[in-house]
Amino acid sequence: MPNCKNCGRKWTWKTIVLNTLKLTNKVNCPHCGETQYIVPKSRKLTGVFSFLPAFIIIGSSMIFDLDGWDLILLTPTLILAALFVYPFFMKLSNDNETGLLK
Ligand SMILES: [Zn+2]
Repeated sequence: MPNCKNCGRKWTWKTIVLNTLKLTNKVNCPHCGETQYIVPKSRKLTGVFSFLPAFIIIGSSMIFDLDGWDLILLTPTLILAALFVYPFFMKLSNDNETGLLK
């Protein structure tokens, strides 16, 4: 789990996931209140997390011959699974390192 770059305290899994669901990477530290940015440990990981669920869905539909309902059930399961592991691969930064807003 990532540590706050300002006060050094660990963030909980819940804090990361709840803020990820808000679709923002800018989060105030629950301990010291300082603004932190949730950034991936490596840029490669961001790509993996965005494409892996799609690959699994397409791959398993070809291998297991899934129909529409199977895919409808599989998609939220994979998104939840991705959300579950997501915080373990994140770190915190004082600056917005994603470069999207620069
Ligand atoms: Zn802090």
